[in-house]
Amino acid sequence: MLNQIGKLEQEVRAAIKAADDLGQLEEIRGSYLGKKGAVTTLLRGIGRIPVESRPQVGQQANALRDLIEQLLAQRAECLKQLTTGERWERERIDVTLPGRPVALGGRHPLTLILDEIKQIFIGLGFQVARGPDVESDYYNFEALNIPRDHPARDMQDSFYLSPQFLLRTHTSPVQIRVMERLAPGLPVRIIAPGKVYRRDDDATHCPMFHQVEGLAVDRGVTLADLKGTLSLFVREMFGSEMKVRLRPSFFPFTEPSAEVDISCVICGGGGCRTCGQSGWVEVLGAGMVHPRVLKISGYDPEDVTGFAFGMGVERLAMLKYGIDDMRHFFSNDFRFLRQFR
Ligand SMILES: [Zn+2]
Repeated sequence: MLNQIGKLEQEVRAAIKAADDLGQLEEIRGSYLGKKGAVTTLLRGIGRIPVESRPQVGQQANALRDLIEQLLAQRAECLKQLTTGERWERERIDVTLPGRPVALGGRHPLTLILDEIKQIFIGLGFQVARGPDVESDYYNFEALNIPRDHPARDMQDSFYLSPQFLLRTHTSPVQIRVMERLAPGLPVRIIAPGKVYRRDDDATHCPMFHQVEGLAVDRGVTLADLKGTLSLFVREMFGSEMKVRLRPSFFPFTEPSAEVDISCVICGGGGCRTCGQSGWVEVLGAGMVHPRVLKISGYDPEDVTGFAFGMGVERLAMLKYGIDDMRHFFSNDFRFLRQFR
């Protein structure tokens, strides 16, 4: 009888060790500990053996039953948490295969351009300033010499949040906010990058886009300083052969005002479709800060002068990278975005 128990133990140990999943373990439990299982049958037959052997056999059989339960539990736990080595063995993983590549992110093309713009102007001694996206009518229009009934407001179809507040239509309000802080005596030399909002939506206009505002106020600032600063910027951005041209224009907050053209980056000035055969493309608006704007902000227009400019970041990125539709920037198409790093 004791021999039989010893044999059963060997048998069940081997079976449990070989079991590959929890279903097999359940089968083993049934065939040893179930109603008709080997150990159960053995315990039931204990009445037929000599009285003096019964205690020892009973003890051993019970010990075997406990042992089987314990081994089953251990194996089950083990199957649930296979070690890496076992899993490789079982699943036949080829560790020499190349790994799955980790997709590295890249910066958005507009972020690349913005960083480049900032670097150039920081190198020229400008500081980066910021203002709120939700702007008051006063800062967005009135302080910039655009009163309520001024036709210039029609050029900038706006998102109003209330009669007093709107999503800023340009970064120019930051000019006023900065000048108010530094007036009347301190010189200003800032750029203000940020988002602006207008009710436009087509291949060259988006309801949200980015501008960089520039402002310099000091004694003796002239139009020549403006042209020199912008020429240097354009050459840094597009290459040393770039030419800059100022065309007379109108903005309510500058006087005189100018549209700034650069030599066409596509044809180099020879004439093509992008530049309408003119050899020039318009990239930004600029001018000398209107005396009234200086005065509203706390500066004395008899004492100081200033220049200001505003450029569209998408426009510069489209020219620099040869992109034909502004909506690409915001459609999150991976095939487009992964071209920029
Ligand atoms: Zn051209």
